Amino acid sequence: MRCSTCPRAAVVDAPYRGAHLCADHLRASVEDRFRREMHRQLPRFRQGTVAVALSGGKDSSVALALAHRYFSRRPTVTVVAVSVDEGIEGYRPGTLEAARQLTRTLGVDHTIVRAARELGTSTDDLARGLPGTPPCSFCGVWRRQLLNRAARDAGADALVLGFNLDDLAQTVLMNLVHGDLDRLVRMAPHRTRQPGLVPRIAPLGTVPEREVYLYARGEGLPFDHGECPYAPRAQRNMFRTIVWQLEEAQPGTRQALLRTHERLVDRWLERGDPGGPNRCRACGEAASGELCRACGFLRTARPAVPVGATS
Ligand code: SF4
Ligand SMILES: [Zn+2]
Ligand SMILES: [Zn+2]
Repeated sequence: MRCSTCPRAAVVDAPYRGAHLCADHLRASVEDRFRREMHRQLPRFRQGTVAVALSGGKDSSVALALAHRYFSRRPTVTVVAVSVDEGIEGYRPGTLEAARQLTRTLGVDHTIVRAARELGTSTDDLARGLPGTPPCSFCGVWRRQLLNRAARDAGADALVLGFNLDDLAQTVLMNLVHGDLDRLVRMAPHRTRQPGLVPRIAPLGTVPEREVYLYARGEGLPFDHGECPYAPRAQRNMFRTIVWQLEEAQPGTRQALLRTHERLVDRWLERGDPGGPNRCRACGEAASGELCRACGFLRTARPAVPVGATS
């Protein structure tokens, strides 16, 4: 298989665009798509702070390396990295080490927020306390919240997420299947600023997971290859399989799901924002009801402990 643009051997097949790419053209294409999305999702951003949510996996490592390069000629923009330690033995320490290695190499300030300190519990603890609940349902909720808090504390104007095309397509489909239009229109990339929330953007959102992986390998970025021990229980796995199957049968399905999301957000913005979220009465973070979802989980797991308490 040859590259569609030059005589070199292709390293990836991209049927959704009817092309094969060699290593050089893959690199150029990933960087080009990242740049375009940064222009589109964070237009005319010339001064301020951008926080990158860094897990130490391939996607966020690529997002940090590319954001660092993108702003390298703009001294008025500071790029920082924020990570969350949810407390997952045998998994998170390795990814955080890879994250430290990358931030040291790039010379980027790096903050690690620990669930044990901020919430008084950990994913491991709560997984033991709520054996019937898939850990991703609470872990994902409070990671988002802790990342938002860390980005806000860093004075960030935007929070860059490492979500790739597959991640976003799966999330769109999940929200559609659950009939959760509210969550669907509020998912990243954000086009409006909501009270208490640092706008989240996803500049890798047009790059398929496989291409992000090959880019990370090609650039020699340090990233952790491990898988979270709770990942096999995640509901997302089913949607990952479905999106793969749809994409195989009909290349371009992932992009179509993203377009669906964009059009729904267009309509929603045309009708006027129905108002930002409330504030959680326990911790003050954004919430759709009285309590945010993170405090809701903490209350279920430890009813005797006042929610929002730290240790
Ligand atoms: S896979 Fe689930 S439990 Fe593991 S870190 Fe991600 S959200 Fe948390
Ligand atoms: Zn080529
Ligand atoms: Zn709360």
